[in-house]
Amino acid sequence: MSDRIHDLVGIGFGPSNLALAIALHERGSGLDRVFLESRPGFAWHPGMMIHGADMQVSFLKDLVSLHNPASRFSFLCYLHDKGRLERFINRKTFFPSRVEFNDYLSWAAAKLGDVCAYDQRVTAVEPAERRGEVTHLRIHAENSAGERSLRLARQIVLAPGGQPNWPEPFGALRGLPGISHSNDFTGAVLPHVAPGQHVAVLGGGQSAAEIFAELAGHPAAPAVDLILRGHALKPSDDSPFVNEIFGADHTQLMFGMDPQRRKALLDDFASTNYAVADLDLLQKIYDLLYEQEVEAGSRLRLLRDTRPIAAKALPGGIALTLEGPAGRHQMTYDHVILGTGYRRDLAASVLAGLSPWMQAEQPDRFYRLPMRQGFRPAIYVQGYSEPTHGLSDTLLSILAVRAQEIAAAAETFRARRLIAAE
Ligand SMILES: Cc1cc2nc3c(=O)[nH]c(=O)nc-3n(C[C@H](O)[C@H](O)[C@H](O)COP(=O)(O)OP(=O)(O)OC[C@H]3O[C@@H](n4cnc5c(N)ncnc54)[C@H](O)[C@@H]3O)c2cc1C
Repeated sequence: MSDRIHDLVGIGFGPSNLALAIALHERGSGLDRVFLESRPGFAWHPGMMIHGADMQVSFLKDLVSLHNPASRFSFLCYLHDKGRLERFINRKTFFPSRVEFNDYLSWAAAKLGDVCAYDQRVTAVEPAERRGEVTHLRIHAENSAGERSLRLARQIVLAPGGQPNWPEPFGALRGLPGISHSNDFTGAVLPHVAPGQHVAVLGGGQSAAEIFAELAGHPAAPAVDLILRGHALKPSDDSPFVNEIFGADHTQLMFGMDPQRRKALLDDFASTNYAVADLDLLQKIYDLLYEQEVEAGSRLRLLRDTRPIAAKALPGGIALTLEGPAGRHQMTYDHVILGTGYRRDLAASVLAGLSPWMQAEQPDRFYRLPMRQGFRPAIYVQGYSEPTHGLSDTLLSILAVRAQEIAAAAETFRARRLIAAE
Protein backbone atom coordinates (compact mmCIF):
# COMPACT_ATOMS: atom_id res chain seq x y z
CA MET A 1 0.00 0.00 0.00
CA SER A 2 1.23 3.52 -0.76
CA ASP A 3 0.43 6.61 1.34
CA ARG A 4 -0.86 8.41 -1.74
CA ILE A 5 -4.32 9.82 -1.19
CA HIS A 6 -6.23 9.98 -4.47
CA ASP A 7 -8.50 12.93 -5.14
CA LEU A 8 -11.11 10.50 -6.41
CA VAL A 9 -11.67 6.74 -6.56
CA GLY A 10 -14.56 5.41 -8.65
CA ILE A 11 -16.10 2.12 -7.55
CA GLY A 12 -17.45 0.14 -10.51
CA PHE A 13 -16.67 0.88 -14.15
CA GLY A 14 -19.95 0.42 -15.97
CA PRO A 15 -21.45 3.14 -18.18
CA SER A 16 -21.97 5.57 -15.24
CA ASN A 17 -18.37 5.77 -14.05
CA LEU A 18 -17.10 5.39 -17.63
CA ALA A 19 -19.07 8.54 -18.50
CA LEU A 20 -17.53 10.25 -15.46
CA ALA A 21 -14.01 9.17 -16.47
CA ILE A 22 -14.61 10.65 -19.93
CA ALA A 23 -16.06 13.85 -18.46
CA LEU A 24 -12.95 14.32 -16.30
CA HIS A 25 -10.70 13.55 -19.27
CA GLU A 26 -12.48 16.04 -21.55
CA ARG A 27 -12.46 18.74 -18.88
CA GLY A 28 -8.68 18.32 -18.60
CA SER A 29 -9.28 17.73 -14.92
CA GLY A 30 -6.34 17.82 -12.55
CA LEU A 31 -7.96 15.31 -10.20
CA ASP A 32 -5.70 12.38 -9.33
CA ARG A 33 -8.13 9.52 -9.96
CA VAL A 34 -8.53 5.80 -10.46
CA PHE A 35 -11.54 3.58 -11.11
CA LEU A 36 -11.87 0.06 -9.71
CA GLU A 37 -13.85 -2.64 -11.51
CA SER A 38 -14.45 -6.19 -10.33
CA ARG A 39 -14.67 -7.71 -13.82
CA PRO A 40 -11.46 -8.70 -15.65
CA GLY A 41 -12.18 -6.21 -18.46
CA PHE A 42 -14.92 -3.86 -19.60
CA ALA A 43 -18.28 -5.62 -20.10
CA TRP A 44 -21.82 -4.23 -20.01
CA HIS A 45 -24.37 -6.76 -18.66
CA PRO A 46 -22.46 -9.69 -20.23
CA GLY A 47 -24.96 -12.22 -18.84
CA MET A 48 -27.76 -10.70 -20.93
CA MET A 49 -25.86 -10.30 -24.21
CA ILE A 50 -28.66 -11.88 -26.19
CA HIS A 51 -28.13 -11.66 -29.94
CA GLY A 52 -30.89 -9.65 -31.57
CA ALA A 53 -31.70 -7.64 -28.41
CA ASP A 54 -31.82 -3.92 -29.14
CA MET A 55 -31.11 -0.85 -27.04
CA GLN A 56 -34.05 0.80 -25.31
CA VAL A 57 -32.57 4.26 -25.57
CA SER A 58 -31.50 6.30 -28.59
CA PHE A 59 -27.80 6.11 -29.48
CA LEU A 60 -27.82 9.92 -29.17
CA LYS A 61 -28.05 9.36 -25.42
CA ASP A 62 -24.57 7.87 -25.44
CA LEU A 63 -21.78 8.62 -22.96
CA VAL A 64 -21.25 12.21 -24.07
CA SER A 65 -23.52 13.69 -26.76
CA LEU A 66 -26.15 15.32 -24.55
CA HIS A 67 -23.40 17.46 -23.05
CA ASN A 68 -20.90 17.61 -25.90
CA PRO A 69 -22.13 16.48 -29.34
CA ALA A 70 -18.63 17.15 -30.72
CA SER A 71 -16.95 14.69 -28.35
CA ARG A 72 -14.48 12.10 -29.64
CA PHE A 73 -16.24 9.56 -27.41
CA SER A 74 -19.66 9.68 -29.12
CA PHE A 75 -21.45 6.71 -30.65
CA LEU A 76 -21.16 8.41 -34.06
CA CYS A 77 -17.37 8.72 -33.62
CA TYR A 78 -17.27 5.05 -32.72
CA LEU A 79 -19.19 4.12 -35.89
CA HIS A 80 -16.90 6.32 -37.98
CA ASP A 81 -13.83 4.81 -36.35
CA LYS A 82 -15.11 1.29 -37.09
CA GLY A 83 -15.98 2.16 -40.71
CA ARG A 84 -19.69 1.44 -40.24
CA LEU A 85 -21.19 4.93 -40.14
CA GLU A 86 -22.85 4.82 -43.56
CA ARG A 87 -24.16 1.30 -43.16
CA PHE A 88 -25.57 2.20 -39.74
CA ILE A 89 -27.34 5.18 -41.35
CA ASN A 90 -28.81 2.83 -43.96
CA ARG A 91 -30.44 0.85 -41.16
CA LYS A 92 -32.58 3.93 -40.34
CA THR A 93 -32.71 3.29 -36.63
CA PHE A 94 -31.96 5.11 -33.38
CA PHE A 95 -31.58 1.79 -31.58
CA PRO A 96 -28.36 -0.20 -32.06
CA SER A 97 -28.19 -3.78 -30.88
CA ARG A 98 -27.07 -4.40 -27.31
CA VAL A 99 -24.04 -6.22 -28.70
CA GLU A 100 -23.03 -3.13 -30.70
CA PHE A 101 -23.61 -0.75 -27.78
CA ASN A 102 -21.43 -2.93 -25.57
CA ASP A 103 -18.77 -2.78 -28.28
CA TYR A 104 -19.11 1.03 -28.31
CA LEU A 105 -18.73 1.23 -24.52
CA SER A 106 -15.70 -1.09 -24.62
CA TRP A 107 -14.16 1.04 -27.39
CA ALA A 108 -14.65 4.19 -25.28
CA ALA A 109 -13.17 2.51 -22.19
CA ALA A 110 -10.12 1.35 -24.17
CA LYS A 111 -9.65 4.80 -25.71
CA LEU A 112 -9.34 6.36 -22.25
CA GLY A 113 -6.22 4.35 -21.48
CA ASP A 114 -5.46 2.94 -18.06
CA VAL A 115 -7.78 4.96 -15.80
CA CYS A 116 -9.40 1.75 -14.57
CA ALA A 117 -7.87 -1.09 -12.56
CA TYR A 118 -9.79 -4.23 -13.56
CA ASP A 119 -10.16 -7.40 -11.48
CA GLN A 120 -10.44 -5.21 -8.38
CA ARG A 121 -13.61 -5.98 -6.44
CA VAL A 122 -14.10 -3.38 -3.75
CA THR A 123 -14.99 -5.18 -0.54
CA ALA A 124 -15.32 -2.30 1.93
CA VAL A 125 -14.88 1.43 2.38
CA GLU A 126 -13.74 2.54 5.83
CA PRO A 127 -13.30 5.95 7.42
CA ALA A 128 -9.73 7.03 8.21
CA GLU A 129 -10.08 9.06 11.40
CA ARG A 130 -7.81 11.61 13.05
CA ARG A 131 -8.73 13.37 16.29
CA GLY A 132 -12.41 12.45 15.93
CA GLU A 133 -12.65 13.62 12.31
CA VAL A 134 -12.76 11.52 9.16
CA THR A 135 -10.06 12.94 6.89
CA HIS A 136 -10.17 10.45 4.02
CA LEU A 137 -11.40 6.99 3.08
CA ARG A 138 -9.73 3.58 2.96
CA ILE A 139 -10.92 1.50 0.00
CA HIS A 140 -10.29 -2.22 0.29
CA ALA A 141 -10.30 -4.39 -2.83
CA GLU A 142 -9.57 -7.98 -3.76
CA ASN A 143 -8.67 -9.61 -7.09
CA SER A 144 -9.83 -12.99 -8.39
CA ALA A 145 -6.72 -14.67 -6.95
CA GLY A 146 -7.73 -13.42 -3.49
CA GLU A 147 -4.95 -10.81 -3.28
CA ARG A 148 -5.99 -7.75 -1.32
CA SER A 149 -5.16 -4.12 -1.96
CA LEU A 150 -5.84 -0.83 -0.22
CA ARG A 151 -6.24 2.64 -1.71
CA LEU A 152 -6.87 5.96 -0.04
CA ALA A 153 -9.13 8.72 -1.35
CA ARG A 154 -10.70 12.04 -0.39
CA GLN A 155 -13.66 11.50 -2.71
CA ILE A 156 -15.35 8.38 -4.01
CA VAL A 157 -18.01 7.83 -6.65
CA LEU A 158 -20.01 4.68 -6.05
CA ALA A 159 -21.55 3.24 -9.24
CA PRO A 160 -21.84 -0.54 -8.79
CA GLY A 161 -25.21 -0.89 -10.57
CA GLY A 162 -28.04 -2.92 -9.04
CA GLN A 163 -27.67 -6.26 -7.27
CA PRO A 164 -29.69 -9.21 -8.67
CA ASN A 165 -32.95 -9.51 -6.75
CA TRP A 166 -33.64 -12.98 -5.28
CA PRO A 167 -37.12 -12.66 -3.79
CA GLU A 168 -38.73 -15.24 -1.53
CA PRO A 169 -39.09 -18.20 -1.83
CA PHE A 170 -35.81 -18.34 -3.80
CA GLY A 171 -33.29 -16.73 -1.41
CA ALA A 172 -32.20 -20.03 0.16
CA LEU A 173 -31.50 -21.59 -3.27
CA ARG A 174 -29.02 -18.95 -4.37
CA GLY A 175 -25.81 -20.55 -5.67
CA LEU A 176 -27.38 -24.00 -6.22
CA PRO A 177 -27.35 -25.59 -9.67
CA GLY A 178 -30.56 -25.33 -11.69
CA ILE A 179 -31.52 -21.84 -10.56
CA SER A 180 -30.07 -18.50 -11.62
CA HIS A 181 -30.88 -14.84 -12.06
CA SER A 182 -31.38 -13.31 -15.52
CA ASN A 183 -28.12 -11.46 -14.84
CA ASP A 184 -26.25 -14.74 -15.55
CA PHE A 185 -28.48 -16.05 -18.34
CA THR A 186 -26.07 -16.28 -21.28
CA GLY A 187 -23.28 -17.75 -19.13
CA ALA A 188 -25.10 -19.95 -16.60
CA VAL A 189 -28.08 -21.26 -18.57
CA LEU A 190 -27.88 -20.85 -22.32
CA PRO A 191 -24.92 -23.20 -22.96
CA HIS A 192 -26.51 -25.92 -20.79
CA VAL A 193 -30.00 -26.06 -22.29
CA ALA A 194 -30.52 -29.55 -23.74
CA PRO A 195 -33.29 -31.32 -25.68
CA GLY A 196 -36.13 -32.60 -23.51
CA GLN A 197 -35.51 -30.09 -20.71
CA HIS A 198 -38.13 -27.96 -18.98
CA VAL A 199 -37.32 -24.35 -18.14
CA ALA A 200 -39.22 -21.83 -15.98
CA VAL A 201 -38.76 -18.10 -16.51
CA LEU A 202 -40.21 -15.88 -13.79
CA GLY A 203 -41.22 -12.28 -14.32
CA GLY A 204 -43.09 -10.01 -16.68
CA GLY A 205 -40.40 -7.48 -17.57
CA GLN A 206 -38.01 -6.99 -20.47
CA SER A 207 -35.42 -9.54 -19.29
CA ALA A 208 -37.96 -12.32 -18.69
CA ALA A 209 -39.59 -11.66 -22.07
CA GLU A 210 -36.23 -11.64 -23.88
CA ILE A 211 -35.18 -14.90 -22.21
CA PHE A 212 -38.51 -16.56 -23.05
CA ALA A 213 -38.19 -15.53 -26.72
CA GLU A 214 -34.56 -16.68 -26.85
CA LEU A 215 -35.40 -20.11 -25.38
CA ALA A 216 -38.40 -20.42 -27.71
CA GLY A 217 -35.98 -20.28 -30.64
CA HIS A 218 -33.25 -22.40 -29.02
CA PRO A 219 -32.11 -25.33 -31.22
CA ALA A 220 -32.57 -27.74 -28.27
CA ALA A 221 -36.29 -26.80 -28.26
CA PRO A 222 -36.80 -26.98 -24.46
CA ALA A 223 -40.28 -26.68 -22.96
CA VAL A 224 -40.55 -23.18 -21.48
CA ASP A 225 -43.02 -21.73 -18.97
CA LEU A 226 -43.14 -17.97 -18.56
CA ILE A 227 -44.59 -17.52 -15.07
CA LEU A 228 -46.28 -14.21 -14.55
CA ARG A 229 -47.91 -12.76 -11.42
CA GLY A 230 -50.03 -10.42 -13.53
CA HIS A 231 -52.68 -11.23 -16.07
CA ALA A 232 -50.88 -9.98 -19.18
CA LEU A 233 -47.46 -9.02 -20.45
CA LYS A 234 -47.56 -5.24 -20.73
CA PRO A 235 -45.69 -2.87 -23.07
CA SER A 236 -43.27 -0.21 -21.92
CA ASP A 237 -44.49 3.28 -22.70
CA ASP A 238 -41.91 5.10 -24.80
CA SER A 239 -44.27 7.56 -26.46
CA PRO A 240 -42.85 11.08 -26.95
CA PHE A 241 -44.64 13.04 -24.19
CA VAL A 242 -43.92 10.31 -21.67
CA ASN A 243 -40.29 10.11 -22.81
CA GLU A 244 -39.78 13.68 -21.63
CA ILE A 245 -39.47 12.38 -18.07
CA PHE A 246 -36.07 10.98 -19.12
CA GLY A 247 -34.82 14.41 -20.16
CA ALA A 248 -31.96 16.05 -18.28
CA ASP A 249 -34.18 19.03 -17.29
CA HIS A 250 -36.55 16.65 -15.62
CA THR A 251 -33.95 15.80 -12.96
CA GLN A 252 -34.08 19.38 -11.67
CA LEU A 253 -37.87 19.44 -11.81
CA MET A 254 -38.15 16.18 -9.91
CA PHE A 255 -35.57 17.15 -7.30
CA GLY A 256 -37.47 20.37 -6.58
CA MET A 257 -40.72 18.54 -5.76
CA ASP A 258 -41.89 17.55 -2.31
CA PRO A 259 -41.54 13.82 -1.47
CA GLN A 260 -45.26 13.04 -2.01
CA ARG A 261 -45.30 14.53 -5.49
CA ARG A 262 -42.08 12.75 -6.41
CA LYS A 263 -43.50 9.43 -5.25
CA ALA A 264 -46.74 10.01 -7.16
CA LEU A 265 -44.78 10.81 -10.32
CA LEU A 266 -42.58 7.71 -9.98
CA ASP A 267 -45.66 5.53 -9.51
CA ASP A 268 -47.44 7.18 -12.41
CA PHE A 269 -44.54 6.54 -14.81
CA ALA A 270 -43.38 3.15 -13.49
CA SER A 271 -44.79 1.59 -16.67
CA THR A 272 -41.90 3.11 -18.63
CA ASN A 273 -39.39 0.79 -16.98
CA TYR A 274 -40.73 -1.74 -14.47
CA ALA A 275 -42.51 -5.05 -15.23
CA VAL A 276 -42.96 -4.04 -18.86
CA ALA A 277 -41.34 -5.06 -22.15
CA ASP A 278 -40.88 -3.57 -25.64
CA LEU A 279 -44.03 -3.80 -27.73
CA ASP A 280 -42.27 -5.47 -30.69
CA LEU A 281 -40.96 -8.19 -28.36
CA LEU A 282 -44.47 -8.78 -26.98
CA GLN A 283 -45.78 -8.99 -30.52
CA LYS A 284 -43.11 -11.58 -31.33
CA ILE A 285 -44.03 -13.69 -28.28
CA TYR A 286 -47.73 -13.44 -29.09
CA ASP A 287 -47.04 -14.61 -32.65
CA LEU A 288 -44.94 -17.53 -31.38
CA LEU A 289 -47.74 -18.69 -29.08
CA TYR A 290 -50.32 -18.24 -31.82
CA GLU A 291 -48.26 -20.26 -34.31
CA GLN A 292 -47.85 -22.99 -31.71
CA GLU A 293 -51.62 -23.09 -31.23
CA VAL A 294 -52.13 -23.47 -34.99
CA GLU A 295 -49.79 -26.45 -34.89
CA ALA A 296 -51.46 -27.84 -31.73
CA GLY A 297 -48.14 -27.63 -29.84
CA SER A 298 -47.65 -27.08 -26.11
CA ARG A 299 -43.90 -26.52 -25.68
CA LEU A 300 -44.26 -22.82 -24.78
CA ARG A 301 -46.67 -21.72 -22.06
CA LEU A 302 -47.64 -18.43 -20.50
CA LEU A 303 -48.75 -19.11 -16.90
CA ARG A 304 -50.67 -15.95 -15.97
CA ASP A 305 -51.94 -14.85 -12.56
CA THR A 306 -49.49 -17.36 -11.11
CA ARG A 307 -46.99 -16.99 -8.31
CA PRO A 308 -44.40 -19.34 -6.84
CA ILE A 309 -45.09 -19.95 -3.17
CA ALA A 310 -42.37 -22.55 -2.48
CA ALA A 311 -39.16 -23.69 -4.14
CA LYS A 312 -37.00 -26.70 -3.36
CA ALA A 313 -33.82 -28.18 -4.85
CA LEU A 314 -34.24 -31.85 -5.82
CA PRO A 315 -31.64 -34.21 -7.33
CA GLY A 316 -33.43 -33.88 -10.69
CA GLY A 317 -33.99 -30.11 -10.73
CA ILE A 318 -35.87 -27.35 -8.95
CA ALA A 319 -39.41 -28.02 -7.72
CA LEU A 320 -41.74 -25.03 -7.66
CA THR A 321 -45.10 -24.93 -5.94
CA LEU A 322 -47.19 -22.59 -8.05
CA GLU A 323 -50.45 -20.95 -7.09
CA GLY A 324 -52.58 -19.96 -10.05
CA PRO A 325 -56.15 -19.76 -11.32
CA ALA A 326 -56.52 -23.58 -11.10
CA GLY A 327 -55.20 -23.71 -7.51
CA ARG A 328 -51.86 -25.06 -6.29
CA HIS A 329 -49.68 -27.47 -8.18
CA GLN A 330 -46.04 -28.55 -8.24
CA MET A 331 -43.72 -28.52 -11.25
CA THR A 332 -40.09 -29.63 -11.52
CA TYR A 333 -37.78 -27.72 -13.84
CA ASP A 334 -34.25 -28.34 -15.12
CA HIS A 335 -33.59 -24.59 -15.04
CA VAL A 336 -35.37 -21.81 -13.17
CA ILE A 337 -34.46 -18.29 -14.29
CA LEU A 338 -35.44 -15.29 -12.19
CA GLY A 339 -36.28 -12.23 -14.26
CA THR A 340 -37.00 -10.46 -11.00
CA GLY A 341 -35.00 -7.28 -11.44
CA TYR A 342 -32.36 -5.61 -9.29
CA ARG A 343 -32.10 -4.13 -5.79
CA ARG A 344 -30.29 -0.93 -4.92
CA ASP A 345 -29.57 -0.73 -1.23
CA LEU A 346 -26.78 1.53 0.02
CA ALA A 347 -26.95 0.09 3.53
CA ALA A 348 -26.02 -3.33 2.11
CA SER A 349 -23.30 -1.94 -0.18
CA VAL A 350 -19.57 -1.47 0.35
CA LEU A 351 -20.50 1.73 2.21
CA ALA A 352 -22.03 -0.28 5.08
CA GLY A 353 -19.02 0.52 7.31
CA LEU A 354 -19.74 4.25 6.96
CA SER A 355 -23.32 4.02 8.18
CA PRO A 356 -22.61 5.63 11.60
CA TRP A 357 -21.50 8.73 9.67
CA MET A 358 -24.35 8.77 7.18
CA GLN A 359 -27.09 11.31 7.71
CA ALA A 360 -29.42 9.96 5.03
CA GLU A 361 -29.31 7.68 2.02
CA GLN A 362 -30.71 10.32 -0.35
CA PRO A 363 -27.99 12.37 -2.01
CA ASP A 364 -28.13 16.09 -2.71
CA ARG A 365 -28.88 17.50 -6.16
CA PHE A 366 -25.28 16.81 -7.26
CA TYR A 367 -25.36 13.20 -6.07
CA ARG A 368 -23.32 13.73 -2.88
CA LEU A 369 -24.44 11.88 0.24
CA PRO A 370 -25.10 14.03 3.30
CA MET A 371 -22.71 12.99 6.11
CA ARG A 372 -22.46 13.97 9.76
CA GLN A 373 -20.35 16.79 11.17
CA GLY A 374 -16.66 15.89 11.17
CA PHE A 375 -16.81 13.71 8.05
CA ARG A 376 -14.72 15.54 5.47
CA PRO A 377 -14.52 13.22 2.41
CA ALA A 378 -17.16 13.42 -0.32
CA ILE A 379 -19.18 10.41 -1.44
CA TYR A 380 -21.16 10.60 -4.68
CA VAL A 381 -23.50 7.91 -5.95
CA GLN A 382 -24.67 7.08 -9.47
CA GLY A 383 -27.79 4.98 -9.95
CA TYR A 384 -28.90 5.22 -6.31
CA SER A 385 -31.13 8.27 -6.33
CA GLU A 386 -34.23 7.33 -8.29
CA PRO A 387 -36.55 8.49 -5.46
CA THR A 388 -35.12 12.04 -5.60
CA HIS A 389 -33.76 12.40 -9.15
CA GLY A 390 -36.28 10.38 -11.16
CA LEU A 391 -36.62 7.28 -13.29
CA SER A 392 -33.67 8.13 -15.54
CA ASP A 393 -31.28 7.64 -12.61
CA THR A 394 -30.78 3.88 -13.09
CA LEU A 395 -30.74 4.13 -16.89
CA LEU A 396 -28.44 5.51 -19.56
CA SER A 397 -30.60 8.55 -20.39
CA ILE A 398 -28.77 11.26 -18.46
CA LEU A 399 -25.29 9.73 -18.15
CA ALA A 400 -23.49 12.51 -20.00
CA VAL A 401 -25.09 15.32 -18.00
CA ARG A 402 -24.82 13.65 -14.59
CA ALA A 403 -21.15 12.85 -15.23
CA GLN A 404 -20.45 16.55 -15.85
CA GLU A 405 -22.30 17.55 -12.69
CA ILE A 406 -20.34 15.11 -10.53
CA ALA A 407 -17.04 16.04 -12.22
CA ALA A 408 -17.69 19.73 -11.52
CA ALA A 409 -18.64 19.01 -7.89
CA ALA A 410 -15.50 16.89 -7.38
CA GLU A 411 -13.26 19.60 -8.86
CA THR A 412 -14.85 22.27 -6.67
CA PHE A 413 -14.37 20.07 -3.60
CA ARG A 414 -10.66 19.69 -4.39
CA ALA A 415 -10.20 23.40 -5.11
CA ARG A 416 -11.81 24.33 -1.76
CA ARG A 417 -9.62 21.85 0.08
CA LEU A 418 -6.47 23.26 -1.51
CA ILE A 419 -7.50 26.84 -0.64
CA ALA A 420 -8.27 25.78 2.95
CA ALA A 421 -4.85 24.10 3.19
CA GLU A 422 -2.97 27.26 2.08
C1 LIG B 1 -29.94 -6.44 -19.64
C2 LIG B 1 -30.06 -4.97 -19.39
C3 LIG B 1 -30.27 -4.11 -20.46
C4 LIG B 1 -30.39 -2.74 -20.23
N1 LIG B 1 -30.62 -1.94 -21.30
C5 LIG B 1 -30.78 -0.62 -21.10
C6 LIG B 1 -31.06 0.25 -22.20
O1 LIG B 1 -31.17 -0.19 -23.34
N2 LIG B 1 -31.19 1.58 -21.95
C7 LIG B 1 -31.07 2.09 -20.69
O2 LIG B 1 -31.19 3.31 -20.52
N3 LIG B 1 -30.81 1.29 -19.63
C8 LIG B 1 -30.67 -0.04 -19.80
N4 LIG B 1 -30.42 -0.86 -18.72
C9 LIG B 1 -30.28 -0.26 -17.36
C10 LIG B 1 -28.81 -0.26 -16.84
O3 LIG B 1 -28.83 -0.04 -15.47
C11 LIG B 1 -27.95 0.79 -17.49
O4 LIG B 1 -27.89 0.51 -18.85
C12 LIG B 1 -26.46 0.83 -17.05
O5 LIG B 1 -25.91 -0.46 -17.04
C13 LIG B 1 -26.21 1.55 -15.74
O6 LIG B 1 -24.81 1.71 -15.65
P1 LIG B 1 -24.02 1.65 -14.26
O7 LIG B 1 -22.61 1.92 -14.58
O8 LIG B 1 -24.69 2.55 -13.29
O9 LIG B 1 -24.25 0.18 -13.72
P2 LIG B 1 -23.71 -1.21 -14.31
O10 LIG B 1 -23.81 -1.23 -15.78
O11 LIG B 1 -24.43 -2.27 -13.56
O12 LIG B 1 -22.17 -1.22 -13.94
C14 LIG B 1 -21.72 -1.35 -12.63
C15 LIG B 1 -20.30 -1.90 -12.67
O13 LIG B 1 -19.79 -1.93 -11.34
C16 LIG B 1 -19.10 -3.14 -11.14
N5 LIG B 1 -19.11 -3.43 -9.71
C17 LIG B 1 -20.17 -3.77 -8.94
N6 LIG B 1 -19.81 -3.92 -7.66
C18 LIG B 1 -18.47 -3.68 -7.62
C19 LIG B 1 -17.51 -3.69 -6.57
N7 LIG B 1 -17.84 -3.99 -5.31
N8 LIG B 1 -16.22 -3.40 -6.87
C20 LIG B 1 -15.85 -3.10 -8.15
N9 LIG B 1 -16.73 -3.09 -9.18
C21 LIG B 1 -18.02 -3.37 -8.91
C22 LIG B 1 -19.86 -4.15 -11.98
O14 LIG B 1 -19.05 -5.28 -12.30
C23 LIG B 1 -20.23 -3.32 -13.20
O15 LIG B 1 -19.26 -3.39 -14.22
C24 LIG B 1 -30.30 -2.22 -18.92
C25 LIG B 1 -30.12 -3.10 -17.84
C26 LIG B 1 -30.00 -4.46 -18.08
C27 LIG B 1 -29.82 -5.37 -16.90
